[in-house]
Amino acid sequence: PSPISGKQRLSYLRSRVMSRTELTKKRALVTGAGRGIGRNIATALAAAGAQVVLMARTRSQLETVAREVSDTGGEAAVLPADIGVEGDIRYAIQGFVERFGGIDILVNNAGIVGSDSPVHDLLLDDWERVLDINLKGTFLCSRAAVRHMIPKKSGVIVSMASISGKEGNANMAAYSVSKAGVICFTKSLGKEMLEYGIRVNCVAPALIDSPLLEGMEPERVEFLTSRIPMGRLGQPSEVAATILFIVSDESTFTTGACFDVSGGRATY
Ligand code: NAD
Repeated sequence: PSPISGKQRLSYLRSRVMSRTELTKKRALVTGAGRGIGRNIATALAAAGAQVVLMARTRSQLETVAREVSDTGGEAAVLPADIGVEGDIRYAIQGFVERFGGIDILVNNAGIVGSDSPVHDLLLDDWERVLDINLKGTFLCSRAAVRHMIPKKSGVIVSMASISGKEGNANMAAYSVSKAGVICFTKSLGKEMLEYGIRVNCVAPALIDSPLLEGMEPERVEFLTSRIPMGRLGQPSEVAATILFIVSDESTFTTGACFDVSGGRATY
């Protein structure tokens, strides 16, 4: 056989990369998909060919994102639910599986930042609300999803941690602890799921330009931005691009890992 040219090899490699990031026929559930980073994740997955179900509390926001997806030729359905409520999660995941016949990808993105408060002023209610949504919600959604993934021996889960879960930001103890919990939960679940061929990873962004910042004190936003060596906020689309890579077949040898999207802030 005649040797292949450099051009042919390049085109072979290009098509291989394209087909391995292709998500056609994959069924994906994205929590907190009504705005911000989740909205970008949902549209990126849909653009790669996945059927995407958008979950969050506010139906009108989800419908706007679903329209955005369908306007670009993608497919999305909406599922209003509160991820802090166990019954809501069970009902939502069951509904998802009945409608689509299974679940291939879960993105645990929904999260809240909580009050900007030192520990000596932090109310127990605030502490519990942040832990309920960020950590318990991640556990409940993951548990419900893997129960459907295990019999199929395949699936991918990505959860949203944060650089604060590695460093512990001042005045954000509940948030930092919840995200440290997400990182550790990812490692535990990743190990448990090895025998079922299910990959479990998380992402740790530094400050990202999303509506979440509206709930933070301007001085805190300025301080956290100053901690980023690249000297700027990250964009939601930059987080979505990392997640697209993680859920794709380009990332089949990675599980129980935390991917940093931090403009150089993460040092470990
Ligand atoms: P955002 O506030 O813009 O969006 C959060 C989404 O989560 C919204 O759609 C909201 O409706 C949904 N949500 C909140 N509570 C919910 C609940 N109980 N049930 C269902 N949905 C709920 O925030 P974002 O910046 O897009 O953040 C997305 C994720 O990324 C969060 O987990 C956040 O902690 C994490 N994160 C954000 C940043 C940042 O700087 N923006 C940095 C690191 C990590």
